[in-house]
Amino acid sequence: MSHKIRGLHHITAVSGPPQENFDFYRNRLGLRFTKKTINFDDPFTYHLYYGNHNATPGSAITFFPWQHVPAGSPNTGEATVVQYTIPNGSLPYWKERFNKFGIETGEPFTRFGFTHLPLNDNDGMKIELVEDNLGAKVDTKGYGGVSDEHAIRGFFGTTLSLADTGRTAEILKEFGWKEEGSEAGDLRFSSNPDNHLGRFVDLRPEPNLDGQFGRGSIHHIAFRVPDDEAQAYWRETILKMGFEITPVKNRDYFRSIYFREPGGVLFEIATDIPGFDVDEPLDELGQNLKLPSWYEKHRDEIEKRLPELNVK
Ligand code: ZN
Repeated sequence: MSHKIRGLHHITAVSGPPQENFDFYRNRLGLRFTKKTINFDDPFTYHLYYGNHNATPGSAITFFPWQHVPAGSPNTGEATVVQYTIPNGSLPYWKERFNKFGIETGEPFTRFGFTHLPLNDNDGMKIELVEDNLGAKVDTKGYGGVSDEHAIRGFFGTTLSLADTGRTAEILKEFGWKEEGSEAGDLRFSSNPDNHLGRFVDLRPEPNLDGQFGRGSIHHIAFRVPDDEAQAYWRETILKMGFEITPVKNRDYFRSIYFREPGGVLFEIATDIPGFDVDEPLDELGQNLKLPSWYEKHRDEIEKRLPELNVK
């Protein structure tokens, strides 16, 4: 049975204060705020989700606002760039928008035939908006004043900064990803998810970054599988490859397994099911604090201790 892994599911990072994170991702990047919940392992910390209008797999960026950790900087053995899909021809719109809000952007550059606009988020995390007409077919809406036409569709891909790309390349090949070749040092792998989102992973040889993990650092990247059966197959396969992998964890909106790939990046494999509308209707996503059932009895205390966050 072929069980290729197709596309990224979500990317999880550490941020500073939750309101600043919301103001950047919803009001500047124009993503939809899709879930206000807590870190299931640390219930007095938010877990904030942003995605496209329908919160589809391949669009979710999630944050733990750990305000007490120091500012991070890109490090070897981490995912260091989040690449987002915008439609072809949308780049000037975004340049002008960032300019209007005083957000600095780098020079656009071309990689593997796609045009990238680089910038940093408010915590210094590297973002690139990439013109891509395939991913642009995804239906979405712009938030925070972004036009529907130019809105971010979801992920294009991510970049992993590695001491040695070879062993990570082996894992991606095992996942069924295709080696596309190298450009400007980056070794690109592609997959073919149904919605074309999150279909690229670039391996970048950067052995001496000497950064530190903190606010603005990516904690892990998650790959997509359709269901529990496919996930069980991959858990077995990864165990057989000699890696340690966690038991299945119920994240309410998906089920997850985690392992550290040989380059040092924490990889997760998450199910598409049940999805973000499992505990609130699609048109109300993100409006109310959602807790896993086992924390409901502590709701009052949790609400009292979480920092203020205005999501209107
Ligand atoms: Zn995750």
